[in-house]
Amino acid sequence: MKCALVTGGSRGIGRAVCIKMAEAGYHILINYKGNEAAALETLEAIKAKGGTGELLPFNVGDAAEVQQVLGGWVENNKDQQIEVLVNNAGIREDSLMFWMNEAQWGNVLNISLNGFFNVTKQVLNSMLLKRYGRIINMVSLSGIKGLPGQTNYSAAKAGVIGATKALAQEVAKRGVTVNAIAPGFIKTDMTAELNEKELAAQVPMNRFGTPEEVAEAVAFLASRAAGYITGEVLNINGGLHT
Ligand code: NAP
Repeated sequence: MKCALVTGGSRGIGRAVCIKMAEAGYHILINYKGNEAAALETLEAIKAKGGTGELLPFNVGDAAEVQQVLGGWVENNKDQQIEVLVNNAGIREDSLMFWMNEAQWGNVLNISLNGFFNVTKQVLNSMLLKRYGRIINMVSLSGIKGLPGQTNYSAAKAGVIGATKALAQEVAKRGVTVNAIAPGFIKTDMTAELNEKELAAQVPMNRFGTPEEVAEAVAFLASRAAGYITGEVLNINGGLHT
């Protein structure tokens, strides 16, 4: 069975990615942190489309937990291959730097940047051995342009972009591609309390994007057809920044 692991698959962009990758024929490992009800909704949506999946909860920022849960899954499922990894789990804790405390800085860095490391470490080996793999990292416009009030989040996402480019060069010879997707404003829980009308007016397309529009790009980068694209960062932002 070919598997795709999607971190933060319970809600928002991650859920849309889970559904899209299931349509592409993958058995989906739906990771999340604590919202089991939402993760079960993702699983139901996958099944409704004739796909298969399972829940795999762990905190991507907790190296020991990732080792135990994901490492344990890999150990116990040697006949199954995680071909696609989508490092999508992320949080934001916005504050101007002047008021930002260490926890706000550390939490955001830990989940996005250390999360990328913790999770990728567990699946990379077998991709290298099988000489095939697709790693897609969910970054952000914030990590490219920098956004005020998000020094923590911009730093975390910019860090993942650097890691994407470095790892891409390390593993290219082994048939593993590593790319990043940088969404602008996408309608999810993460952006629910933003002033959508005001912010959408700054977007040339005059609207927020949908999780499904991001998932389409993930599915392409995860496909065999995208085999010569690596180390790339794809903007999906309605023209907000090019
Ligand atoms: P969301 O709706 O807030 O969903 C966040 C997801 O991440 C949930 O599934 C959540 O699980 C999971 N998660 C959070 N912390 C976790 C942890 N420590 N371990 C494992 N899972 C964790 O977010 P979203 O808008 O879909 O964003 C998805 C990704 O896209 C993030 O990396 C975000 O930074 C990025 N992004 C989003 C936007 C946007 O406009 N929405 C723009 C640019 C980039 P639970 O359900 O268990 O809490």
